[in-house]
Amino acid sequence: LPLSERKLIERITRLASARSAKLPLIRTGIGDDCAVLRPPPGQELLLTTDFSLEGIHFRREWHPPNLVGHRCLARGLSDIAAMGGKPLAAFLSLGLPTDLPQSWVDGFFTGMLALARQFGVALPGGDLAQSPVQGKYPGRVLADIMVVGAVPVGKAVLRSGARPGDRIYLTGSLGAPAAVVSALYAGGKVSGKDRRLMQPSPRVAVGIFLRQRGLAQAMIDVSDGLSTDLSHICESSRVSAEIVSESLPRGTFGGQPVSLEMALHGGEDYQLLFTARPHARIPRSIAGVPVTEIGRIIRATTKRRMFLIHNGRRQVLPVRGWEHFTRGT
Ligand SMILES: [Mg+2]
Repeated sequence: LPLSERKLIERITRLASARSAKLPLIRTGIGDDCAVLRPPPGQELLLTTDFSLEGIHFRREWHPPNLVGHRCLARGLSDIAAMGGKPLAAFLSLGLPTDLPQSWVDGFFTGMLALARQFGVALPGGDLAQSPVQGKYPGRVLADIMVVGAVPVGKAVLRSGARPGDRIYLTGSLGAPAAVVSALYAGGKVSGKDRRLMQPSPRVAVGIFLRQRGLAQAMIDVSDGLSTDLSHICESSRVSAEIVSESLPRGTFGGQPVSLEMALHGGEDYQLLFTARPHARIPRSIAGVPVTEIGRIIRATTKRRMFLIHNGRRQVLPVRGWEHFTRGT
């Protein structure tokens, strides 16, 4: 690295902690053995960790450094949003290969800290290490972020609250980020504008709105694809689900709506998927984000299968996991 670890930490500290000191949560940030946090009174803490590994979650040749930094934090913020919580602080452990240009590191932090500022999230601590360069394999960037959030005691929205009869809702649209990735895999050209489809906006305001009004019974963020994440709600709530394919809001890529396949299984959407009681009034737009009813929760079937109603026919909806960026490597 062009900068020594000490210099780099000094730089990150300068970038990150100017505001951290003013946040009531942070008593002591970077510069001691631990950060000292004071949870807001009457609140429970939410903790989540997320890996962003080069070659698995991103590729340096596809993702500009500020996008990687943004996504790294966005993944954690999205998990906090899915509980109806407010994100407060993030801790970053970063492994950097020795041959990485300093400009890449700066871009990474620029992207991450811009998002942190947008959500009022402090970065009061972290760790840095050199990631190994092995033989002919170049070193890879490894980032592990932990995000701390808070929610009033007992009010976190869990995955386990769905009941038969609940309607299933989704924020935003699905499939565009996966369509970009699949185009990149195919060696296709992707415009800068379309590349930004891979830059998620965590739905924190929507999550808080739903939790404050008690509207969401079960909630999850769609990171691994709708089919996978809906199956987590079904597992936790011991129910099954039925999705209407025509009602699925599909994203657009290259001026075209993405395929049904992409919308169902794509992943990387970072939208919120939640259920509400049938009589609940769910606004069509929350905090400027469209909210669409896409199906309903039904009684658990054998093997707790999910269904897709497509062209008036009911078929089994398979769970197909997100393969991240590993295909073909
Ligand atoms: Mg999640």
